[in-house]
Amino acid sequence: MAFELPVEFENRMRAMLGGEYEAFRAEYEKPHRRGVRLNTLKCDAETLARTLPFSLAPTPFSPLSYYAPEAVRMASLPLYHAGAFYSQEPSASSAVTLLDPQPGEKVLDLCAAPGGKSTQIAALTGDRGLLWSNEVVRSRASALASNLERMGVKNAVVSSVYPEVLAEKLEGYFDRVLVDAPCSGEGMFRRDPQAIAEWSPAHVEACAARQIAILGSAARCVREGGVLVYSTCTFSEEENEGVVRAFLRENPGFVLEKPDVAFGRPAYGVDAVRIFPMDGGEGHFAARFRRTAPNGYAARPYDEKPDRQTEAAAQTFCASVFTDWKAERFARVRDRILLLPAALPALSGLGVLRAGVELGEMKKNRIEPAHGIFMAAKPAQCRSVLHLRHDDPRLTAFLRGEEIPAEGLAGYTAVAVEGVVTGFGKASGGVLKNKYPKGLRIHG
Ligand code: SAM
Repeated sequence: MAFELPVEFENRMRAMLGGEYEAFRAEYEKPHRRGVRLNTLKCDAETLARTLPFSLAPTPFSPLSYYAPEAVRMASLPLYHAGAFYSQEPSASSAVTLLDPQPGEKVLDLCAAPGGKSTQIAALTGDRGLLWSNEVVRSRASALASNLERMGVKNAVVSSVYPEVLAEKLEGYFDRVLVDAPCSGEGMFRRDPQAIAEWSPAHVEACAARQIAILGSAARCVREGGVLVYSTCTFSEEENEGVVRAFLRENPGFVLEKPDVAFGRPAYGVDAVRIFPMDGGEGHFAARFRRTAPNGYAARPYDEKPDRQTEAAAQTFCASVFTDWKAERFARVRDRILLLPAALPALSGLGVLRAGVELGEMKKNRIEPAHGIFMAAKPAQCRSVLHLRHDDPRLTAFLRGEEIPAEGLAGYTAVAVEGVVTGFGKASGGVLKNKYPKGLRIHG
């Protein structure tokens, strides 16, 4: 039986694609395209290629993106848990390629959960500068924070507020802003029946209106000369081209830049890029604006300092567990100690769930380490490391939460798979007491 699509959607696509409609329709009878994106903060392409159970074929959308076969369950792969790669539909990596974030920049990802694009931004900036990842739906923001932790991102803030709150408090603060907008999801039809169930012409119209409003707030966050990228995973012209035109009408201080990318195809009548299933991905649209007009500046510097006891405990802890950790700025939130990004604005009123990376929990005068700080560490930075191969049964046992042998090791010890840290334990008497978080443990 043929894959069923809403009739009105088919009519619209036929009108849009003309002679190419049959090729577009035929894609729906094939399995959807999947991909993995290498996390260069933790792993290199050679290690990934050596350990994955399929060969790495590059996609055109990002140098870090590869096709993956449908049959492989990513969560069964130890390197997935270690944050060596992110499971991402290939064309979804196109928007950040257009954003082109640079090391040291301040980047806002305004609609960020579950974090595919945020973690790609962090890899491209080398985690240098500041990544502000916002997600308005609180439960989705927690999943975003957890994905950033798994991928070892240190210099990020995770918040959960409406875009206008960020526009008010962080006007003019960011070098680059990404709006990967909530959309009618037509590019998701092949893998998400819910997107088909929710689709209607009225929904498309409502999504377009919401996107224009979000972009208005995003525009205020961009500094003069900075970049704003708008992307969706849908095909409709009311969203996409329609939204680009409306944005330019409402924001004369921005120009649209021609996409300098080697994938997809030109959009209809505006300088932007479209990707259809015939172009090697499930479907995406991306446009890049540049702010030419001056902007206000609302951010105040972060100036809170931890008390002396916290500062001393944090420094002692870093020196005892790590060999070279440039720990400059800490914060204490109740008993949790955080290692903060160097670039940081004042955070109050911004719905921040997490800033920086969790170092540990204060217990009397010492710190009990957190999973997050080890996920952000390289083996060479840790004083004690248990190295395991990806097919070592001790690794599965560790991920299940079990104690494993750790002959000759002592104290807080990183567990690394193929050179990628995936957690830690406390070694003593030849065994490693398991500290892998309960909520992350695998079963079976
Ligand atoms: N960028 C994400 C990634 O790569 O993993 C995917 C983002 S998804 C396409 C759009 C997100 O926008 C959703 O997580 C949704 O909860 C959020 N959203 C919904 N309504 C919103 C609004 N009014 N303002 C901002 N974001 C909104």
